[in-house]
Formats: sequence, C-alpha cells, structure tokens
Amino acid sequence: MGHIETALVHGAIREGYADKKGAVNVPMYLSSTFHQESMDEFGEFDYARSGNPTRAALERAIAELEGGDRGFAFATGMAAVSACFMLLSKGDHVVITEDVYGGTYRFVTKVLPRFGITHTFVDFTDLAAIEAAITANTKLIYMETPSNPTLGITDIAAVVDIAQKANAWTFLDNTFMTPIHQRSLDLGVDIVIHSATKFLSGHSDIVAGLAVTKDAALSDQLYFIQNSFGNSLGVQDSYTLIQNMKTTAVRFNESARVAGVLAQFLQEQPLVEQVYYPGLASHPGADIHAKQSTSAGAVFSFRLPNYEIAKTFVGAMQIPVFAVSLGGVESILSYPAKMSHAAMEPEERMKRGITDGLLRFSVGLENEQDLLADFKQALEKAALVKTV
Ligand SMILES: *Cc1c(COP(=O)(O)O)cnc(C)c1O
Repeated sequence: MGHIETALVHGAIREGYADKKGAVNVPMYLSSTFHQESMDEFGEFDYARSGNPTRAALERAIAELEGGDRGFAFATGMAAVSACFMLLSKGDHVVITEDVYGGTYRFVTKVLPRFGITHTFVDFTDLAAIEAAITANTKLIYMETPSNPTLGITDIAAVVDIAQKANAWTFLDNTFMTPIHQRSLDLGVDIVIHSATKFLSGHSDIVAGLAVTKDAALSDQLYFIQNSFGNSLGVQDSYTLIQNMKTTAVRFNESARVAGVLAQFLQEQPLVEQVYYPGLASHPGADIHAKQSTSAGAVFSFRLPNYEIAKTFVGAMQIPVFAVSLGGVESILSYPAKMSHAAMEPEERMKRGITDGLLRFSVGLENEQDLLADFKQALEKAALVKTV
C-alpha cells in the first residue's frame, strides 16, 4: 500500500474493520479458543497458540512491510531468533557473524551444540573468510547488520550470493534498521528477524520478536515451529506493537537525524578514541551500508580510554536512561561489556572490540541541543579523570 510510512499506519488496521464493525484499531481478541460452526465447518481460528486474530493482523502487517510471504510474531526477539534456528537439524552447520547480538551468541554456543548443530564465527566484513568457513554441512549463513555494538557492516547481497552457491539459507537480524531502511528480503535473504522490543515498538514497553519468510516453503516450516514451541506473542502485546509500529518511521528518522549530529560531535572530541556509526565517512563499512540501507540508524557506540573514564561519563550523563536495550523514545546509554555482552567470555569480547571503555548510545526523541549539552558536560567531567 503506497510507501512504507502509509503501510505502517494502515497495514494492520485494515484487519480491524475487516469484520465490518468499523473499529479503526485492531480489536484485542482475548480468546484462547474459538467457536466452530459445525463438525465440518471450521473457521480460520481454532486455538490461540495456533492463531489469534490480533496476532494475525500484526503478522500480516509485518509480512507486508518486509515484502515477504508470511510474518510471525514471537514472545521476544530471542524467541524469534531461536525459532528460526530450530529450522535446522542435527548435523547442520551455521556460519555466523562474530559480532552477533549477545543472546544469539549464547543460543548458538550453548544451546545448539547440545542438538548437534555446529557453528563457525567469522568476521563478516571479510567475504573470503565467509566462503572459507563453509563446509559440506553448512545450512545457514546468519547475518546481523549493522551489528551490535560496534556497528560492523555486512554486504548483504554478497553474502546471499555466497549462500546461494553453497545451497545454504540466509537469515538476517534487521533490528537496527527496521523494514523502513533495509529491505532484506529484496536483497535475497530467506528470513528477516526483528527484536520488535526495540525500534518497532519504540517505547521500552514490551518485549516482542518478529520474523518474515521470503517464500512459502520456509513459511510452512516456521509456522510448524511456532505452533510446536508455543512461543508466540500474546494478544495484548500484539495490540501494543500494532499501535506503536504506526509511528516507527517518524520516530526512527528523527532519532537517526540526531544520531548523525551526535556521532559527528563525538568524533571531534579529543577524549573519544573512536566512534562507531555507519553514517560517518570514517566508518569502514559506510559505503556498503549506504548501498543497502537508506539510513545510518539511531544507534552509535564510542570508545573512551578506560573503565574509570567511562564510569565517570556514565555517572555524569543526565538525560539518557542507563540501561540495556535500544530503540526507545528515551535515549538509552548502555555499557555493552556488562550488559548486552555480559554472556560473552572476556577474551571473546575484546576480540570484538567490546573493551572496558566502550559505550553504546541509542538516540531517543529528546531535543537535539539538550542531548549535545549533556554530552558536553559529561565529557568535561570525564576528562578530569584522565588528568589525575
Ligand atoms: C535485543 C536484540 C535481540 C533480542 O531481542 P529480545 O526482544 O531482547 O529478545 C536480538 N537482536 C538484536 C540486534 C537485538 O538488539
């Protein structure tokens, strides 16, 4: 339906008036079971684990937004990620980006091996290394771009090409870009995954996950997993997500605009050793990102010299919440070493650039000048630590 901003507003709500009662918001069908007309006339819904009209409206909306075959709503982003991995079988091998989300890292390293599914972590900025990691059993290449927390960029089309030659699937965690700014399935990806907890819901209110399949064969398999595991999103959270998704484009675009200003500012500060933001010309993945995405996003990371300076900086910041997560209307400052990547062994963290001075910032919707002033005063306080 027209451009994506229009689809975001109208995608799910058409379901709301499909029942001819005209509600402009999708009703919450708080019903675990559904009456059937007769012994040989069963309706679309029978039991809410298998399908609920509110969740179905959300699932159809995300499928339309991603331009895919079928959408799936899960209880959390990790439920979406793990459900997709459950399409694999014993003996299968996964090639996966080494700076993957911490929870995905935990699932792939601690859970999948118990089911005989092996993996190889690779620096996904190195296409030759991806090809070299493929074995006869490789069934899946798993991407996340921009990655978390160092905003590494993977060339999606190039990886899809490698995967197709190897007869392997590609899944992509698109949480950082949303369907608005990165068209994963158009680039050939088989399944696109979101932690809808982040930008899609955008108010730090619910946890939710979404996945969209490119073609029908995978849709049937993923539906089977969703129904077997029973990890789908509840009705009230489905409603909340439908409502919040209507404003994702305006929220994301404004936050991304301010992120660009803040990242540029930080890059010019002597105390800041490095800024990771794909919108900066200095970012090694900037060109590839610009080729496959229409925004540099609303999240950046930056490196202060050490733990003490980072700690002083965090203590001095007034506006952001200091917390895990990202993508909220309130700016969120996080400390990856002890938050998103706490599940990772220290030597693995260091290898991925998640040092003791690394901070991540998710830009919310506060005033740009207020955020700049907050960064300035906190950096001034942090600079004093360096001199003692
Ligand atoms: C948060 C996040 C997840 C996990 O989502 P939950 O909703 O927390 O389970 C997965 N991938 C990325 C990139 C994330 O930021």
